Amino acid sequence: METREVKKVVIAGGGTAGWLAAAALSQQIGRLVEITLIESDEIGTIGVGEATIPPIRVFHKLLQIDEREFMRATAATFKLGISFENWARKGDEYIHSFGRNGKPTWMCEFHNYWMRSLELGVKSELGEYCLELEAAKAGKFATSPQTDINYAYHFDAGQYAKFLRAFAERYGIKRVEGKIKEVRQNGDSGFVESLVLHSGESIAGDLFIDCTGFRGLLIEQTLKSGYEDWSNWLPCDSAAAVQTELTGAAPPYTRSIAHDAGWRWCIPLQHRVGNGLVFSSRHLPDDAAKQELLASIDGAPITPPRVLKFQTGRRRQVWNKNVVALGLASGFIEPLESTSIHLMMVGVTRLLHLFPFAGVNQSLMEQYNQGAREEMEKTRDFIVLHYHATERDDSPFWRHCREMPIPDTLAHRIELFRENAYAYQADSELFRVDSWTQVMFGQRITPKTYHRAARMLADQELLKFLADFRAGVTHAVARMPVHQDFVNQYCKASSSVWN
Ligand SMILES: Cc1cc2nc3c(=O)[nH]c(=O)nc-3n(C[C@H](O)[C@H](O)[C@H](O)COP(=O)(O)OP(=O)(O)OC[C@H]3O[C@@H](n4cnc5c(N)ncnc54)[C@H](O)[C@@H]3O)c2cc1C
Repeated sequence: METREVKKVVIAGGGTAGWLAAAALSQQIGRLVEITLIESDEIGTIGVGEATIPPIRVFHKLLQIDEREFMRATAATFKLGISFENWARKGDEYIHSFGRNGKPTWMCEFHNYWMRSLELGVKSELGEYCLELEAAKAGKFATSPQTDINYAYHFDAGQYAKFLRAFAERYGIKRVEGKIKEVRQNGDSGFVESLVLHSGESIAGDLFIDCTGFRGLLIEQTLKSGYEDWSNWLPCDSAAAVQTELTGAAPPYTRSIAHDAGWRWCIPLQHRVGNGLVFSSRHLPDDAAKQELLASIDGAPITPPRVLKFQTGRRRQVWNKNVVALGLASGFIEPLESTSIHLMMVGVTRLLHLFPFAGVNQSLMEQYNQGAREEMEKTRDFIVLHYHATERDDSPFWRHCREMPIPDTLAHRIELFRENAYAYQADSELFRVDSWTQVMFGQRITPKTYHRAARMLADQELLKFLADFRAGVTHAVARMPVHQDFVNQYCKASSSVWN
């Protein structure tokens, strides 16, 4: 393997992935390497990734991004979780929140105590023991350095890329506007040496970050790194997206509403709502999907609906030779749990840990690829769970989801929970036990039994503890301001942001 020192990094693509990489690399190692980003206004970005999950706050902290400044610049709102409607059965509704369920002990998770209380005749939902979930339901939100409420954001994807661009440019990144026409490789090693633009300009580099979206211009079209297709587990392959006007106060959560051949997202921003119908083209033609989307949205459309096509799966080698793929170029699970931007952030962070200053070598590459594979697979299982664990049999799509084979790793988890109420967070796994249990209960997987440690507390002691906990949550939520009011006073964006 070629071992040339890495002094020049070239980022191909200026969507969310490209500018995220640019921001993090320029701030963290910009004094050690020269960084150039190439983007094409003519091609544009996909621009639909607008919902996030809480680790984004850790990433922003690393970059020392000021929360209010970022929220004003991107017309952002707060997100406490996702409301799933009609998923296990038509008419069902549950929230997968970012909060913790009650208080676990070292031996068993809280939901075991809750199950014991049901046996004792207490009529309560698991969600009543979770501050974030109850706050989301009540449309409330507050954050301060004194509280540790777990939250993420909804933001305008176009404005986020602009915000990151301004950030990266402050750290000296060079931006080149132009369309890449040719990827030049070394005749012996196959390493990429330069990218040639339609203008004739050639941009040379030692390490290339492929952020060209689904095209995967370097990682796939040039290096043929391979793609593992997951469409047998994730049946949707298309999305129709449309932006609409606001119709009321923004709730502090994303809505995910199951339809007959997929599901619809509703992402509330300060100035508009992002909507989309994610669907299976085997079960619903594009035009019918657009009609269905337009018929189900609340506000007046601001943009015409557009259809996006995708193939769920992962790039077999996200780091191949001297090319590292990020964002859609590295694979795509699907947007149900808003995980893609997170995976980009983890990818950039891992690259910083393993940065090949002294030259690309096999061990760095393998370490990176193994981490990326594990993360993608574990996240995939969590998403497949939502589709598969359903009682719906009212459409060919849902019958397919119920009957489709699922990954063994997920089958094991479901069995473990159904038989024993046991859920776990594996090493380097994104989703916590609280997420697994909230979704498994929400999807109507009912455990046959629970951990007997929940019987160690005397009945009255347990009931008092649970009643006090619920009262604490109710009291805390009652004291919180309405989410929209909090946004207005904390981070209201000026209309110049979106005009
Ligand atoms: C329907 C849908 C909904 C999604 N929702 C979410 C969500 O809510 N949350 C989330 O975390 N993620 C979401 N994602 C995933 C992902 O986060 C976003 O799609 C994200 O915006 C993708 O960014 P990207 O930078 O990888 O790709 P892109 O936005 O496609 O950017 C590609 C860049 O490469 C450039 N480029 C391409 N070819 C060339 C060339 N030849 N020369 C020069 N430049 C070139 C383009 O101009 C562009 O700048 C969603 C994805 C889809 C499909």
